Amino acid sequence: MSVYKEIIDKLKATNTTLVAISKTKPVEQIMELYRQGQRLFGENKVQELVDKYEQCPKDIEWHLVGHLQSNKVKYIAPFVSLIHAIDSLKLLEEVNRQAQKNNRKIKILLQYRIATEDTKFGLSQTDIVELMDFYSQSSSYNFIEIVGLMGMASFTENETQIRTEFSKLKEMFTFIKESYLMPKSYNTMSMGMSGDYKIAIEEGSTMVRIGSLLFGAR
Ligand SMILES: *Cc1c(COP(=O)(O)O)cnc(C)c1O
Repeated sequence: MSVYKEIIDKLKATNTTLVAISKTKPVEQIMELYRQGQRLFGENKVQELVDKYEQCPKDIEWHLVGHLQSNKVKYIAPFVSLIHAIDSLKLLEEVNRQAQKNNRKIKILLQYRIATEDTKFGLSQTDIVELMDFYSQSSSYNFIEIVGLMGMASFTENETQIRTEFSKLKEMFTFIKESYLMPKSYNTMSMGMSGDYKIAIEEGSTMVRIGSLLFGAR
């Protein structure tokens, strides 16, 4: 049985979605998984995402999982199906603007900084509440849809720490859902990568982002 099938079987049992993270890997490797049925792929760089979108079958859904600069939103706005790492109001507003230009609604996740190690990107608890207060009181964001949260746990062997960080994301997810009366489409917790996806699933993940386990080390 292929690694892919093994992972897919495990995820099916818990209703978890797999985003195959194909960054740095050639189109041939994407097509190998495509032929096994995978239609959901993720990249962390805008240029690479655009290149692969152009080269691959059009029934693939593309996610951007990495940090996104506001000035690059326009390149992915015509086709991206989910942006995982919204980490400022400015970026959220630019996605809304570009989505409107393309006459479509773009789904986004807010990146919550759950890692205790020093990381550059992601919103703090206070940032998220501030952003959500603003978002929920405004009527101008008609071209984006906040469908959940994304988080990355610390890079550590300490399972307890990873578990605690993922559970923080779930707590925040529930807090937002209840405080802002979010619609049904708010249903995604994007957490878990090759090294920690099993823990993430145990902590309530609905979407895992797996790269090296599927495609080999980078
Ligand atoms: C690269 C990457 C992944 C996948 O990492 P692996 O350890 O290779 O599974 C997941 N999420 C983000 C944001 C990434 O940049």
